[in-house]
Amino acid sequence: MTILGHLDQHPGLNPPDFSAVVTSVNDNSIELDKTFFYPMGGGQPADRGSMISESFECNIADIRKKGAVLHQFESSKGTVNVGDQIDCSIDHIWRNKLSKMHTAQHLISALANEEWGANTVGNQIGFEKTRIDLEFENRDRFDRQYLEQLVNDTINQNLLVSMDFRPSGELLDNPLVRVNMARMPPNIDIWRTISIGDLDVCPCAGTHVPNTGMIPEIEISRVKSKGAGRLRVEYLLKEQ
Ligand SMILES: [Zn+2]
Repeated sequence: MTILGHLDQHPGLNPPDFSAVVTSVNDNSIELDKTFFYPMGGGQPADRGSMISESFECNIADIRKKGAVLHQFESSKGTVNVGDQIDCSIDHIWRNKLSKMHTAQHLISALANEEWGANTVGNQIGFEKTRIDLEFENRDRFDRQYLEQLVNDTINQNLLVSMDFRPSGELLDNPLVRVNMARMPPNIDIWRTISIGDLDVCPCAGTHVPNTGMIPEIEISRVKSKGAGRLRVEYLLKEQ
């Protein structure tokens, strides 16, 4: 059975430090017996952070999941060996901002779908700004200011953001699932699923905040054409 998602993420802001055992070291990459770092995926950049042991310290510059989770390090001092106990810290400023940006992306995608039937066909979560590509039947109906207001009103409703695991059948029958399940990888049986109030249900492996009230209000900073029927919407978080 294949399960979507990196299962061990802390669900809120400020993910705690953790300790792990090094299971593999190759070039500038470490594997651990467990990890709470988020690897790049789903349009969200990898976590950053640091690791320290009795004989070694480094910054974590990137994390990729290729079967195993590979923690790519830089600025290292000392030596690291398989079997070493190592203390790991996730960069809170980086992670918290991306979790807020990512949760805002769910809101924007859901509300654009609700209002105009728009489908999200791409997104790139960023620290300074995030972009979402939306595909419309009639993009002339899109109203940038109205969407911004809808999103900010929803943020201020303090909707709960919850996570659970669901089989494909449950998602196919749920009208709050706005992604096209036919476009999702066919080999997944169980989906890590993010629900936001009664607004949205979405299979997703990324990091989120547990309540929409933790997201600052957004500002749609740019809207541009991305070809027939498509618009690219870029947004910022107004306060940090
Ligand atoms: Zn997500």
